[in-house]
Amino acid sequence: MLFDHRIYNFAPGPATLPEEVLQRASKDILNWQELGTGVMEVSHRGKPFMACYQEAITDLRELMQIPENYEILFLQGGGIGENAAIPMNLMGLAKKGPQADFVVTGTWSQKSIAEAAKYGNARLAASSKEQQFNTIPENANWDISSDSAYLHICDNETVGGLEYGYVPNTNGIPLVADISSNILSKVIDVSKYGVLFGGIQKNIGPAGMTIVIVRKDLIGHAMSITPTVWDWKIQAANDSMINTPPTFAIYLAGQVFKWLKQQGGVAAIEAVNRKKAELLYSILDQSSLYDARVDVTYRSKMNVTFYLKDESLMDKFLKGAEDQGMIGLKGHKSVGGIRASIYNAMPLAGVEKLANYLLEFERKA
Ligand SMILES: *Cc1c(COP(=O)(O)O)cnc(C)c1O
Repeated sequence: MLFDHRIYNFAPGPATLPEEVLQRASKDILNWQELGTGVMEVSHRGKPFMACYQEAITDLRELMQIPENYEILFLQGGGIGENAAIPMNLMGLAKKGPQADFVVTGTWSQKSIAEAAKYGNARLAASSKEQQFNTIPENANWDISSDSAYLHICDNETVGGLEYGYVPNTNGIPLVADISSNILSKVIDVSKYGVLFGGIQKNIGPAGMTIVIVRKDLIGHAMSITPTVWDWKIQAANDSMINTPPTFAIYLAGQVFKWLKQQGGVAAIEAVNRKKAELLYSILDQSSLYDARVDVTYRSKMNVTFYLKDESLMDKFLKGAEDQGMIGLKGHKSVGGIRASIYNAMPLAGVEKLANYLLEFERKA
């Protein structure tokens, strides 16, 4: 049953979640599995919760076709936390002292390289800063060091609205990708990556949990200073429960995995996501009011960013959208403009409503 007061929420994260999942969760918060107590109130070591955790792991493995030689960790600290944890766990693999390579294409990869520099030599392999982060530097021109432990990319730059449409060549060093804002949005060949990681608050669930998918041979090289909660070897040996895990986030992520399976899985939702993004970009491309600046080849299917050529219309645009039940469209303060985040849980109907609004607003402008 749909509430008629649920509006379309285009926020970048925390973001909209599937209504069916929230309905179910609202019951389970009070009384889970007829236990007479809620899912947030039971021990993480008890049978019901351990089964819920195992199911979430199994469903994620199935959805993303994660090979058996990859570990799935459910950690805390968000994407920002992993920006520290990854160098601490991996830089030790470098032959001549701690070192890693970074491709900087926007806000998030910029943060990643800055954080990693605290733990070793964080090399800039390529950057699109001079292109205002509106493109991804040509892979063939990246300056990759064979002395680096890994190469880090941000697969979807949430602020700029920029997404890799391919798996880059790294000259043989492990590829680490931040997929915080496009995890489960498209088919990913996990075997091509050393590490995939992301916070779940964009495309999966509530804030408070980070998924790390790591090839098993990359585990066990942590620096001695690595905090216990971020040491992948320790967490892998303890079902990610070396301390109390974010139980509600794990439960809710598990429910979203089941929802996604009901939608037909990742390939099926990818087709819908493509349709949603194409609908918006096709309108932006025909417009003389809207200005989509990201290189067409690297446009994000999750975060559609654009500007109004007449910026004085911004408040009117946002207010008008809100009046029609569409929120969260204001661009990140660092770049301005408009951003429509259209993650898995944003229905096609919501994007169609926004598309109509874009057309109507331009007609009246
Ligand atoms: C949101 C986001 C992050 C930050 O995640 P936190 O959970 O806030 O630490 C990192 N990387 C990308 C690409 C993001 O979109």
